[in-house]
Amino acid sequence: LVRLRSRLARSQTSLGKGLLSLLSRERLDDETWEEIEDTLLTADLGVAPTQELVERLRTRARVEGIQSPEAARTLLREELLALVDPSLDRMLRTDRHVEDGRPAVVLVVGVNGTGKTTTVGKLARVLVAEDRDVLLGAADTFRAAAADQLTTWGDRVGVVTVRGPEGGDPASVAFDAVKAGIEQEADTVLVDTAGRLQTKVGLMDELGKVKRVIEKHGPVDEVLLVLDATTGQNGLVQARVFGEVVDVTGIVLTKLDGTAKGGIVVAVQRELGVPVKLVGLGEGPDDLAPFDPEAFVDGILG
Ligand code: GDP
Repeated sequence: LVRLRSRLARSQTSLGKGLLSLLSRERLDDETWEEIEDTLLTADLGVAPTQELVERLRTRARVEGIQSPEAARTLLREELLALVDPSLDRMLRTDRHVEDGRPAVVLVVGVNGTGKTTTVGKLARVLVAEDRDVLLGAADTFRAAAADQLTTWGDRVGVVTVRGPEGGDPASVAFDAVKAGIEQEADTVLVDTAGRLQTKVGLMDELGKVKRVIEKHGPVDEVLLVLDATTGQNGLVQARVFGEVVDVTGIVLTKLDGTAKGGIVVAVQRELGVPVKLVGLGEGPDDLAPFDPEAFVDGILG
């Protein structure tokens, strides 16, 4: 975790440093506030959250005063943390159901290339390390490479991957994966899906069907939407579309290692009304971490 924190810190501190040096200026004039606003917008915080934050900082700076760099840091830390909202429930539901022994089912959705398959692989690894029995479902049947990639992750982690014929019905693979999970008394079934966004109707039909078919076994426990942090506003558009198609329960923000656009955390939480639960901080098997608001804000402030 320490290593992940420092990696996150490296990419984000330019943002924090910039904000802190602006806030520590002797005179906080209109021009400075505009610069602060621009910095936040550049970090993908979004227009409304930026305006709110600047308004709050302005008021507090006026009422409480900012006498020192430490005071600026404390003020900024408090307000950023409030925006990220530490009160949200970020627990991942991955435990087997006590009532009937059914495995928890986690559906992982998102546009191709955002890091879905990698996230499923990393998450499987985390769960296996916690001694859970995990099973993978390769419901992206459109690209053979996608199922191969997932199977490679499964082999590496030591878990079975259920897959179907290329071009087969994704819902049927998802159904089979959950069925196998029930039979094998697995703790968690992670289902990777296809993310073709060409037509919203197509996506809606396909994902909706996958979810409905899985639900014949029982309710889905988590629908995780994977978004690439580097895609900015485009990620927000994707969030909106997926949010209309399925009830997303949590967001996974990938590639947060290579970007200073951490503001997207706040923007996307607001867009969907669900918390960021996991963050991807690299391509390696250990580069997935629970999203920790305090560590995130401290990473920004350096
Ligand atoms: P999918 O099409 O959504 O399943 O995406 P993939 O899992 O195949 O990932 C697409 C690319 O993004 C791959 O090259 C991954 O190694 C890379 N990737 C995934 N997650 C992360 C991350 O957190 N950080 C970085 N830097 N790269 C990532």
